[in-house]
This record gives sequence, structure tokens and C-alpha cells, in this order.
Amino acid sequence: MVNAASAARSVRRVVKGMPTSDGAGVKLRRVIGQPQLPDLDPFLMLDEFGTDKAEDYIAGFPDHPHRGFETVTYMLDGRMRHRDNHGNEGVLVPGSVQWMTAGRGLVHSEMPEQQEGRMRGFQLWLNLPARDKMTAPKYQEFGPERIPTATPARGVSAKVIAGRVAGVAGPILQPATDPTYLDLAIEPGATFSEPLPADHAAFLYVFEGSVRVGQGPEASTVRTHELAVLGEGAQVELSGVSAGADGKTARAILVAGRPLREPVAKYGPFVMNTREELQQAFTDFQSGKF
Ligand code: MN
Repeated sequence: MVNAASAARSVRRVVKGMPTSDGAGVKLRRVIGQPQLPDLDPFLMLDEFGTDKAEDYIAGFPDHPHRGFETVTYMLDGRMRHRDNHGNEGVLVPGSVQWMTAGRGLVHSEMPEQQEGRMRGFQLWLNLPARDKMTAPKYQEFGPERIPTATPARGVSAKVIAGRVAGVAGPILQPATDPTYLDLAIEPGATFSEPLPADHAAFLYVFEGSVRVGQGPEASTVRTHELAVLGEGAQVELSGVSAGADGKTARAILVAGRPLREPVAKYGPFVMNTREELQQAFTDFQSGKF
């Protein structure tokens, strides 16, 4: 019998991103927050945006509200200007992270700071526990030089946005969900093998190449634009596939967090615990209280 606490996590299921558009018509791939995977407690949504065509992103995300959760924007390519109704403004450059705690509410825009060229990155929505939903809005924003890189094994590098790899800790602090967020590059044949808290929900999203997940007969291959929901275990083992068309350096994000196990009432950009709180969010937004 395999001891679940020491075994590497296997793939519980694989979900493909669903092409859609949001904001004023930005084309993106919705991976979490779509019918196949409505959520993965504590994660509410994952969008991958990636295109070389300006018409796919140029309309951006004009003013819209958020309440009750966090949005995490990680840019790979391109520049995005962020501006909110509390006077916060900044430009996200390639390799930067914006971890925004919406808390009791803000209204902001996220607009491309470029007319052409590639725009690529991720936006993850992470839930807040009931006790923190009405907290004051805040930002944890880090340029690329503030995101440390760990090299836990030969042929493996990990940008550590949140969590810890081989003694390297990421800059994000969020005690409620204690998140891990890694941007991994794994060469063919190389293996990333690291502990992950056994009680955390975890997923891997591959955005270049393919990754072999797990050990022995339990292992399975996850390909570009596929999300793997990971099963139980205190360890994760990921290998770069060395055969055929899959045999190039793989890139993937590995994300984990403590489930909140609380009721979720959500509608668009408001995520609360009850219907009454959702109605209050609408009322507060409409009366300008954000
Ligand atoms: Mn937003």
C-alpha cells in the first residue's frame, strides 16, 4: 500500500482551457471558472492570455469592480497599465506580478500599454476567507528583479512568486491560503521533485512543451494549454519529456493553496459567502461605496 503522505501527487484530471473573451473584447483562454472546472477551492478563476495580434488585446479591461477575493496578474510578455479609484496606478512589465487584494472593493482598469507586439500572461483569482472579505484593498506588486529564481535540480529553474523551493522563498504573503505560485522551466529529462503541503489544493498549467507528472505507472503527460488537477500527496514530481515533438524545455505554472471550505456566492466580479452579501455588494457598488 502506498503511503499517500510520501507519494508524489498524480494527475486527478486534465482540463483544457476554453477560448473566450472578456473585458472590452480581450481574447483569452479560461481554464478555471468554466463549465469543466467551475472552481478549485481556493481558486476561482484562471485565465491565460497570449497573442501576437493587437486586435486580440487592445480593447483591454476598462473600469470594473471587484469585491471579496484577490486577483493575481503575472505578465510573461507585454505591458499592462493598472489604475484604480483609490489613486493606485502602475505598469506591469514582463516578469512582474501584481497580487491585488480587492477586499471590500475597488474599481479599476487594466489596459495594454502597447499598440503592437506580444501580450502573454495569466490572471488567477484567489478567494479570501469570510473574515477577510471586507478588509481594506491592498497591493503586493513586484518587478521581475524582485522575483527570485531557484535551481532545485540540474535543468530545472523555478521563479518563486509565492511559496518556497529549495530554500528560496517568494515575496508574496497571504497567510489565509498560504499559496505557492511557481513559474517552472524544465529541460527534457530533468526532474523537479519538491514537497508541497499535503492539505493544499494544487494544479499544474503547462504553457510550453509537455510535462510528465507523478511517478512510475501512475505518471501521465500534461501538454501545452492543459491544466492538471493534482491528487493527494506531500510531494510533487515533474519531468521534462524528452521524446519526439514534446522534447523541448517545458514551461508551466505550479500553483497550490489551502482550501477555504466555505460557501461561495459569486456573480461576476463579486465573490462573497451568501446571497445577501452579494446583493449588498451590488448596492454598495451602485451607490459609489467602492
Ligand atoms: Mn480586474
